[in-house]
Amino acid sequence: MNTWEYAESIESSSIVNIEKKYGIFIDGKFQTAKSKKFIKTISPSTEEVLSSISVGNKSDINSAVDSAKSGLKIWSKLSGTERAKYLFKLARLIQERSREFAVLESLDGGKPIKESRDFDLPQVAANFFYFAGWADKLDISWNTKGLKPYGIVGQIIPWNFPLLMLSWKVAPALATGNVVILKPAESTPLTALLFAELCEEVGLPPGVFNLVTGDGTTGAALVQHPDISKIAFTGSTAVGKYIQKETADRDIGLTLELGGKAANIVFNDAAIDQAVEGVVNGIFFNQGHVCCAGSRLVLQEDIHDEFVSKLEKRMQSLRVGNPLDKNTDIGAINSKEQLNKITSLVDEGVAEGGSIFQTECDLPSNGFWFKPTLFTNAQPSYKIAREEIFGPVLTTLTFRTPEEAIEISNNTEYGLSAGIWTEKGSKILWAADRLQAGVIWANTFNKFDPSSPFGGYKESGFGREGGRHGLLSYLKVQS
Ligand code: NAP
Ligand code: MG
Repeated sequence: MNTWEYAESIESSSIVNIEKKYGIFIDGKFQTAKSKKFIKTISPSTEEVLSSISVGNKSDINSAVDSAKSGLKIWSKLSGTERAKYLFKLARLIQERSREFAVLESLDGGKPIKESRDFDLPQVAANFFYFAGWADKLDISWNTKGLKPYGIVGQIIPWNFPLLMLSWKVAPALATGNVVILKPAESTPLTALLFAELCEEVGLPPGVFNLVTGDGTTGAALVQHPDISKIAFTGSTAVGKYIQKETADRDIGLTLELGGKAANIVFNDAAIDQAVEGVVNGIFFNQGHVCCAGSRLVLQEDIHDEFVSKLEKRMQSLRVGNPLDKNTDIGAINSKEQLNKITSLVDEGVAEGGSIFQTECDLPSNGFWFKPTLFTNAQPSYKIAREEIFGPVLTTLTFRTPEEAIEISNNTEYGLSAGIWTEKGSKILWAADRLQAGVIWANTFNKFDPSSPFGGYKESGFGREGGRHGLLSYLKVQS
């Protein structure tokens, strides 16, 4: 075993109070879903059942839309300053209860507590503060004459950053005067349910935020409802395409934040040790369940051997295990289905001829786990170099000239993010100009800020979240 021995340092889960069963949040209170159907949400690190959540059906979506209509009547009469007060209150409460949220997120989704505590929750609060600050400045920042909120917005989010995706969607929608019906992912609904409790606590007018938990059928019912004026979706490209087709004949706003297969390019003049650190962060953060993960290492050929040897050494020091242990770097894979998908893509990578390196580590006997994995000797045509694996798996491709680096990096259906590692500023600008990606990091990776727009090109979707662009996604021209 090459990892250092640490004494366990387990974050207590006694701070969270999980109900046995949850209803849906409509008209400002929890109600029994008309469907009377439940599914279980488990902790992917132990397979323990945490709770039963309602699976909303068409009638539940109808009730949520009725509730949203009454909410809109109240919300649309409030000034930006009044709307901001609620958002600021929510931001402060999220900060106050951030430990509770972080533990719940790690329990329900499997991510390491050090990430939910030090990344997700600070980002969530920052998003609410940021958009709260905009609510009373929309008129003075743009000529908002003719720009109106959509009205009722349907929002559908994935399981990799459950509360963070909620904040990216709910905060700008409410700041701009819309009301919301949110559908969280079926494997990670608990932090959204706790957020609904906060909405009750701050006295958010009933119907302004509605939460209908469920599965894909619940999401589809939301998409199909004729009174929804905008859909904001984050998830897989396949479901994004379905939503685009489903809404094609309606006058509806649509933003799609979909998958990615980002290139993390390392030039031979880069600071190698820092680049190794950045590449590790780029792919192993959040078990690689990251849409903008740097899942393709695009490496200059003459530093390949030195870089890979340092990378493997660094990977070996990653600690895989209990998400609630503060020492853990890599937690549980979010679900059995996701583990099966990762396993089968990795098996195909081996069959196609890639050389595989996996760290030596003991995996817990229960739960869903995958060892940090690196492929070398891969061809750009291999599935592991083309498909989003959405797990802790990095595929290396090599190049000789900067032009070739750009060609390889852009040789993908996706276009969400990219990374550039070089000590030359001019090379950063040259490469950034040529990369087809919505977000490009230079000598760093996976850095986020609420003021910075995020979104993709090509099969990574369209529309931007964050910053002024993100606000505009919730306003439509009506003149
Ligand atoms: P997913 O299967 O597309 O699910 C996303 C959400 O859509 C979930 O709430 C899901 O519900 C719901 N859904 C499923 N089928 C639906 C349907 N027919 N109609 C409406 N909604 C439906 O994606 P995922 O596996 O949860 O998330 C991983 C994907 O999200 C990856 O591809 C990742 O790249 C992408 N992602 C993108 C960004 C970005 O900003 N670009 C950020 C994070 C993640 P259930 O959970 O109940 O199935
Ligand atoms: Mg769960």
